[in-house]
Amino acid sequence: MGKQHNKRKGALMSLLTRRRFVASAGAATAAVTAGFASIPARAADLPRVSEDDPTAKALNYVHDARTVDAAKRFSDRYCYNCALFAGTADEEWAKCSVFPGKVVAGKGWCSVWAPRQPG
Ligand code: SF4
Repeated sequence: MGKQHNKRKGALMSLLTRRRFVASAGAATAAVTAGFASIPARAADLPRVSEDDPTAKALNYVHDARTVDAAKRFSDRYCYNCALFAGTADEEWAKCSVFPGKVVAGKGWCSVWAPRQPG
């Protein structure tokens, strides 16, 4: 009985150890995943909106505002001074609420442009 008992005990301990490992690995994975989900994406990690994007086309978005016909756009209007631009005036690319999950050029423009409030 002693040898057989020790063999079964060893197998049981091995199974318990494996279960604990799997359970703790699962908990760790869930914690890491939840952590990533709660971190907002950094602008540097997001793709640049394409000028061929359907929304971009509909709103006449361009990466370089200076290419827009003067009759359509006042010369002092850029993404960097638009109320919807999430970056600072000197950032080349930043988020814009019109294009979720993407970034727009600071020197870009679209027809939704709205003045940024001072302060
Ligand atoms: S809404 Fe403003 S920041 Fe966004 S693309 Fe248009 S002009 Fe640029």
